[in-house]
Amino acid sequence: MTEPNLDAAYASPAIEGAHRTGTPELVELYEEIADCPACGLARTRTQTVPGWGPAPAEVMCIGEAPGAREDEQGFPFVGAAGRFLDELLAGIRMSRETVHIANVVKCRPPGNRDPQPEEIAACQPYLDRQIALVDPLLIVTLGRFSMARWFAGTTISRIHGQPKRFGNRLVMPMFHPAAALRRGDLRAVIAADFARIPALLDEARTIRAEEPADASPDVDAPIAAAASLPASEQRALL
Ligand code: SF4
Repeated sequence: MTEPNLDAAYASPAIEGAHRTGTPELVELYEEIADCPACGLARTRTQTVPGWGPAPAEVMCIGEAPGAREDEQGFPFVGAAGRFLDELLAGIRMSRETVHIANVVKCRPPGNRDPQPEEIAACQPYLDRQIALVDPLLIVTLGRFSMARWFAGTTISRIHGQPKRFGNRLVMPMFHPAAALRRGDLRAVIAADFARIPALLDEARTIRAEEPADASPDVDAPIAAAASLPASEQRALL
């Protein structure tokens, strides 16, 4: 991604970004996250990585957790997986300027281990508020942890690329871009799933026009349910 010129007046790059592209409520949320002590990850993080991109936004991508580079720089999805995500977005004429990007947990798990159920549960209220502020028409879940919020008890390999309507928005499960770094054959699969986003967005716009207010619950299960999948599936599938 193109990193912005940072202004020392802001506590973090994400907060500066929220000032530029979000609402006062998003800035407030990011500032609250920056000081969050609610789980053990607060002790080991360099900084929080709440998200990046406009609010509101038609499309919101939700990944897993910040890695080492994200923890250092304060942006989600930097490094090789982030470059692949940028490529995928460019392929459908979108970018980080138009899509909101977030993770299930806002602090890096040490050694890039999986986020634990209690960490996901502690962080979930922040993600709930973020989704409410971004109010996306289409949510793209990247990997199993964000997928599990809407699609419980399954695996990403079974349901990737199969969108489902929740309330007045669509949710599209996809592999995490990092999966393609470990398994080259997934690159084309992920690109094919991404290529469906523009058509899905058209569908999502129609849904929103017909149902502007969302009265129904938009979750199937707590995200922490992902951690209850069999270990073999958790390891194999991002
Ligand atoms: S991961 Fe979430 S809940 Fe845990 S310390 Fe970071 S911001 Fe707070």
